[in-house]
Amino acid sequence: MNKNGVGGGECISMIMTNEQLERYSRNIILKEVGAQGQIKLLNSKVLIVGTGGLGSPVALYLAAAGIGTLGLVDPDMVDLSNLQRQIIHSSQDLGRPKVLSGKETINNLNPDVDVVTYQEGVSSDNITDIIKDRDYDFVIDATDNFTAKFLINDTCVLLQKPFSHAGISKLYGQTMTYVPGNGPCYRCVFLNPPPVIEPPDNDEKGVLGVIPGVIGTIQATETIKYLLGIGELLTGKLLVFNALDMEFRKVEIATRINCEACR
Ligand SMILES: [Zn+2]
Repeated sequence: MNKNGVGGGECISMIMTNEQLERYSRNIILKEVGAQGQIKLLNSKVLIVGTGGLGSPVALYLAAAGIGTLGLVDPDMVDLSNLQRQIIHSSQDLGRPKVLSGKETINNLNPDVDVVTYQEGVSSDNITDIIKDRDYDFVIDATDNFTAKFLINDTCVLLQKPFSHAGISKLYGQTMTYVPGNGPCYRCVFLNPPPVIEPPDNDEKGVLGVIPGVIGTIQATETIKYLLGIGELLTGKLLVFNALDMEFRKVEIATRINCEACR
């Protein structure tokens, strides 16, 4: 699945340093990963759109796992009200661009990671260039608005890039994985952005800080599984999380015959 693997005959110690062998040892001893899998991760490139509640755990776990290149996209500065859930940022980062704060935290955790920053919001003018910039292998939708979610979906479908969708609200979350040619896209399920009538009230904006932690961690898991080519992905399935009842439900979703994006 990943074209960056190495041949079976190559000596692992010539490819990974002793420090890397130790850092990633708990990955490498897993039969699902192994040294070849770790090298795949080190050669992988993942774009994370949004460096907030969802983007924080995604970026931290992918950095810790040794994903070689992480792209961070976010136009915003760190605000005090972010820190209740956006765990990649700290109190001393207030007022700083989120992509720079994120890059610093990632490189403190793992200097192996090449962090590419895009301090801008995604729009139809720039998203294709951003995805093509490093020819990213996988895209993470860690955004908080429908316009960006549909834009990421439609662009990834067009460019045939796999991506992980997630959405959170209050005490609920959902996530699905799109793989080209293998199951429905986000627009198959949700059709169109809902009409914007008025700004959300305070209750609508509320979210328990751990919710993006749970859902973002699942997005990171899906990314690693995709890059390694292991297990069953959330393709054709929407995982819905209800923290109040502590319930995870997998809802079967189908490709829509007349989908504007993928058909
Ligand atoms: Zn579709």
